[in-house]
Amino acid sequence: MKYLSTRGSKANSFKEILFSGIAEDGGLFVPEKWPSIGINDIDSNISYMDLALKILSPFIGSEISTDNLKKIILDAYQDSFSVNDLVSFKKLNKNEVIVELFNGPTLAFKDFAMQLLIPIFDYFLIQENKKINLIVATSGDTGAAAINAVKKSKNISIYCLFPKDRISNFQRRQMSTVNEHNINLCEIDGTFDDCQKIVKSILNDQEFSKKFSISAVNSINWTRIMIQSVYYYFSFLKLANDGFNKINFSVPTGNFGDVYAGFVAYKMGLPINKLIVATNENDILHRFFNTGEYKINNVSKTSSPSMDIQVASNFERLLFELLGRSGNSTKDKMNDLDKNGAININKEELKIANEIFLSGKTEMDVVNTIINQVFNSSKYLLDPHTAVGLNASRKYNDSSHLNCILATASPIKFSETVERAVDESLTLLKGYDYLFQSKEKYVELNNNVNEVKDQISNKNL
Ligand SMILES: *Cc1c(COP(=O)(O)O)cnc(C)c1O
Repeated sequence: MKYLSTRGSKANSFKEILFSGIAEDGGLFVPEKWPSIGINDIDSNISYMDLALKILSPFIGSEISTDNLKKIILDAYQDSFSVNDLVSFKKLNKNEVIVELFNGPTLAFKDFAMQLLIPIFDYFLIQENKKINLIVATSGDTGAAAINAVKKSKNISIYCLFPKDRISNFQRRQMSTVNEHNINLCEIDGTFDDCQKIVKSILNDQEFSKKFSISAVNSINWTRIMIQSVYYYFSFLKLANDGFNKINFSVPTGNFGDVYAGFVAYKMGLPINKLIVATNENDILHRFFNTGEYKINNVSKTSSPSMDIQVASNFERLLFELLGRSGNSTKDKMNDLDKNGAININKEELKIANEIFLSGKTEMDVVNTIINQVFNSSKYLLDPHTAVGLNASRKYNDSSHLNCILATASPIKFSETVERAVDESLTLLKGYDYLFQSKEKYVELNNNVNEVKDQISNKNL
């Protein structure tokens, strides 16, 4: 498989795009064409890991042999998740299912990608006897997932940037209590978007990033996206038997990575009816799917912090598709965004987007109501992100399709919000005392790219 940049430049191998993260022309990598994987050819009893092998193979091609890829997948997943098939399902009623993606070591769906992505990096690094530095901005969950996966690696160090006071205590402690020497955690006095900007600016400084062998594991990393497509197929195989031939997926959305992975599955042939982009108060994507205007506002702080994002990095990949895969048109639109803080698409293009994408916005008071209702009616605890997803799904009240809501995090990670919503104290944190007793380790930095660069260069002298 070869990959293109969304801004036009051509033909990179899987390994090249894995390590470079972002294209030299500033665009994001996408496959040259979509492989076709029919659902009817797959046995519905297939294990998650065998399915992953099937879905990922065409994107990697001969660059990793089937036997090696199979082994990498097994090693990555078999002991790190708390359920055998990684995903678990909770039926709320006849046509509503919660797809639990939080059975990994850090209790959010980011583990699916990180537990496998890091060993794929390692596979190539070990072959060439090389070391790299990873850099990542986190709105809370990516950092923990990346740190958990990297701490086992001998070839990889990580620099993780998180926004001050904008992630939960649990989330911060999941990162700051990991003591391995290859883990570097930086608190940035700014928002997630500021952290993301610093990462982009470091990656765009070719001289610096070459010198320190820097790669990125943010959600713009193509490998993360393709790995996430697997659970859309898996959910379909396990759920679409009782009378439903198409599925809606509602996806709590921030950086547009997870729901875009659903779009990739759709492009490969998975019979998805609609992908519902569920946002909180940070509704740039909701506004886009309703008006065709993608316009940056200020970031609001909410009870679903992993979605407190305005600049949805993966949006460029969708734009590229909507503009007929034209690199030049995509580049022009992205320049509009830099110049005017907004992108507009025309009615025709919006219509194409709405054939597959719908959206819903849910504010904090409604999040609390939904958590409370579901707890009382079904004795089931939603985390605030998943509540945003469920509410967006219910807005469409579609009873002719199965409605799957991706549960992106465990309620344990957001116990304060959840307990307030159900107005009861629960024992969610039982078993996590170690997180709250261990000493925390991180540096406090200003919102300034040079301070982060100093951290990297000082440690790599
Ligand atoms: C990262 C995250 C999201 C948003 O996913 P994107 O791929 O950035 O759209 C939603 N919920 C939780 C819990 C997350 O950690």
